[in-house]
Amino acid sequence: MIRRFLYNFFQGRNGFDPIAKLTVALALAAALLTLFGGWVGLVFDLAAMALMVYTWWRVLSRNIYKRQEEVRRYLDRTSGLRQYFRNLRTRFSQRREYKFFTCPTCHTMLRVPRGKGKIQITCRKCGNRFSGKT
Ligand SMILES: [Zn+2]
Repeated sequence: MIRRFLYNFFQGRNGFDPIAKLTVALALAAALLTLFGGWVGLVFDLAAMALMVYTWWRVLSRNIYKRQEEVRRYLDRTSGLRQYFRNLRTRFSQRREYKFFTCPTCHTMLRVPRGKGKIQITCRKCGNRFSGKT
């Protein structure tokens, strides 16, 4: 009964998307900062409320095409940042077997096995050669 109601309610609406994830996180951060109290706390209180109103407005929006267009632009603009964090995770999980270098010319992340001493590294993207200690 409730499930059916929720299903009908969200039918044809945008729903929870990556931008909602971001705005909810920002709202929670702002809510935490209200602990400062005073007028600073008040500002963050208002910011948290505004962010939650904005989140719900987007989640319940019926203009799905436009919302998806916003998500596409948002993901497009943050792709460098998301790639950076993906790389960090990769480096951390493989830190024992591999050493990571960044190409000085094109800044591509390169992975080489550890324990090979001083070696010549050739960038797989731009062909630049440089030496590194593994
Ligand atoms: Zn390169």
